[in-house]
Formats: sequence, structure tokens, C-alpha cells
Amino acid sequence: MGKRVIIIRYGEIFLKGKNRSYFESLLIKNVKFALDKLLGEGGYAFKRSQARYSIEDYSELKEAEIVDRLTKIFGIHSLSVAMKVPSDAENNFEAIKQAMIPLAEELEEENTLLDPTFRVTVKRADKRIPIPSYEIAAELAGTVLRHTSFKVDLKRYDYDFEVDIRETGDAYVYSKVILGAGGLPVGCSSKGMLLLSGGIDSPVAAYMMAKRGMKLVAVHFASPPYTSELAKQKVVRLRNIVEDYTSRMKLFVVPFTEIQLAIHEHCPAEYMITIMRRFMMRIATKLAEQQDCKAIITGESLGQVASQTVESMTSTESCAGLPIFRPLIAFDKEETMDIAKKIGTYDTSIEPFEDCCTVFLPKNPAIKPRLERVMQAEQALDIDALVEKAMSGIEKY
Ligand code: ATP
Ligand code: MG
Repeated sequence: MGKRVIIIRYGEIFLKGKNRSYFESLLIKNVKFALDKLLGEGGYAFKRSQARYSIEDYSELKEAEIVDRLTKIFGIHSLSVAMKVPSDAENNFEAIKQAMIPLAEELEEENTLLDPTFRVTVKRADKRIPIPSYEIAAELAGTVLRHTSFKVDLKRYDYDFEVDIRETGDAYVYSKVILGAGGLPVGCSSKGMLLLSGGIDSPVAAYMMAKRGMKLVAVHFASPPYTSELAKQKVVRLRNIVEDYTSRMKLFVVPFTEIQLAIHEHCPAEYMITIMRRFMMRIATKLAEQQDCKAIITGESLGQVASQTVESMTSTESCAGLPIFRPLIAFDKEETMDIAKKIGTYDTSIEPFEDCCTVFLPKNPAIKPRLERVMQAEQALDIDALVEKAMSGIEKY
């Protein structure tokens, strides 16, 4: 009797006022993107009532996977797997009681507490039922008492059996709350252009910005034939993994070889990296304009390598026409790696493929490049033409 459904609750505190429907529409879009990808468009039903959504009519075999996907969507506060049954009020709530038995038995089996206590919380939106909520709760508590060793404690309870009786005559019954990802729904904090390498840091940077609601478009600089097709495929795979958190993230791949060769040939080796990164910023800025992005995001962390000193970042930054956000700036590598493992990008990131930055890596890069010197060195290049050429070769994935 009844069926299993997944209830989604979102962070209502953030969703007051006129932004609410906008936030909701983004959240719905992101949930649908995730579940369409997992189940196909017809593989589930999305229902909404008041401030709650539920996922219904899915294959139970996929339930754990669906829950897993949903816990990665920012803006979702918590989830519960519930039994949806008719309230069956005229029959002394028999259907609800039946639904509570397996929930109670499961908790009893898992319980490790000494004198476990519980309560039943009833929300009765269906006012056709003349019985007050606390009386319904007392009636339902009898079922838990009969099937477990738990005792009732309305104040200091270890377990809460929640029963929502809706206007529709349906009741949702559950006993567990799964914590969601928190954050803000992706899309509510404008769009950013992410510099996505094949490394550990930049996918984590994507995750961090998505958490605060930023929609991302990714750009990757590739240097064929010095970097291989497999290196590019690795970046595509990283994008696909991180999309569990960022929702859809377009990926553009920029041919970077010609620029690197030109720098290599015409500029002092010590400035190779700085000048290369300045080109990345120029191209990212142009692409950002086309894609309506309002910021550039990188995975840089202070002091990690020569190109990530304050001086290096300053010399790079002056070529970006947009603010650069570096969500990992104060992270230790360890901390970033922990997140990479949590979000599932780590194993892919450490696959050994060549990166465009390492191909032309000089022996002694300038650790504190002076901007005037860098700009002087750059004069040997036809910057605009190189940027134009690279832009015209961009491929979309
Ligand atoms: P990551 O692990 O993200 O590659 P990293 O520690 O290797 O970072 P760098 O290689 O110096 O550091 O790169 C710093 C940042 O510059 C990266 O986090 C990324 O945002 C950007 N970046 C570097 N190489 C590329 C590339 N080939 N394409 C796009 N962005 C890049
Ligand atoms: Mg790198």
C-alpha cells in the first residue's frame, strides 16, 4: 500500500520576498537537469505543493542514486524518503500505521542508544479531518510502541516520526531527514567564466562558486600536439563530474599552441608563464563577454607555485577585464584535495596527462615578475592578432 517518494525541502530562510519564485524556478530547473540526466525525462514525476517538492514515480532500484544526486544540488536544505499513503482517516488512519511499521522496525534495528525515545509529529493540513493533530499523533504512537522498544518523549526525543496529512487526502510518512548541500541555487548569483585545467584545483573552485549560486561556463586552454586528445577528454570528464554540483556547465576549448610558441620564441623564458597567463585572461575576458559572464574564476592558491604569488597574480590580473574570483586562495593543498575527493573529481584529476602550462615550463620562472618588464617583453608579440586567431579556433563541448 502506498508508494515511496522523496521529499525535498529548500532553505526557506533565504527565500523570502520577491526573489522567492525566481529562486524556486532555478532550483526546479537544476533538479530537473540532474534527474533527467540520471533517469531520462519520463523516468520520474516532479510534484510541488506549497513550499515543498517531491519526486515520485521513479524506479525504486534507483532511489539511492536519486537521493545522492539531490544531496549535491545547492539550495536544497534537506531530503526525506517518505511513504505516500492515503490518510485513511475514516479507518482510524490504518494506512499511515501500516506505513509506519517498517520505518519503526528499521530504526529499532539500527538503534544503538540506550533508552531510545521518540515522538510522532503530525501536520494536518486536511481540515476535513476533525481530529486534532496531537490526538492523531497519540493514536499513531501506539504503532511505534508496539513495534519497537522506544518510549515516548515529546521534548527530548531521539527519533521523530513525521506525518504530513495534506489537503489532497494524501499523507507523507517518514522518520529520517537527510542533510542537503545547503548553499544557494545555481544561477541566482550571476554567471562566471571558470578557467578549467585538468588539475585538482579548478574543479574544486567550480564547486565552491556553485555553492554560492554562481552559474559557470568553463574554458580550457589546450596545446595540441603537445597536449593530447586524451588530455582534453579528461577535462570533459571532469566537467561531467562537476556538473553534479554546478548543473549544466558549457565547456569551450581554446587552441593555445600558437600563442605559447610565439611567447617561447620571442619573450624571455622567465616571463613565459606570466605572459601565458595574461593571454589566458585576455581570452577568458572576451569569451566571458560573449557568454554574459560577470567574473573570472580560477583555482589559484596563494604561494602554491611561482605563478601564484601576489606579484604574479597582480601582473596577470591587469589583463582581465572582469573581477577574478579565487575561491581557493587561502586553502592548503590538503584542504583542496579533501574537497576534490568528496566531490569525486580527485581520481580523474590525478590521471597523468600533460597540461599546457607544463609543456613550455621554464627552469626558472620569475617569482615576483614586475609588470613593466612583463609588458615590455610582450611588445615583441602581436597580441591582438594572436588573441583573435585563438578565439576563432574555439570549440564547444
Ligand atoms: P589546477 O590544479 O586547477 O590545474 P594548479 O595548482 O595546477 O591548478 P596552475 O597550473 O598554476 O595551478 O593553474 C592555476 C589556475 O589557472 C588553475 O586552477 C586554472 O583555473 C587555471 N588554468 C591553468 N591551466 C589551465 C588550462 N590549461 N586551461 C584553463 N585554465 C587553466
Ligand atoms: Mg594546473
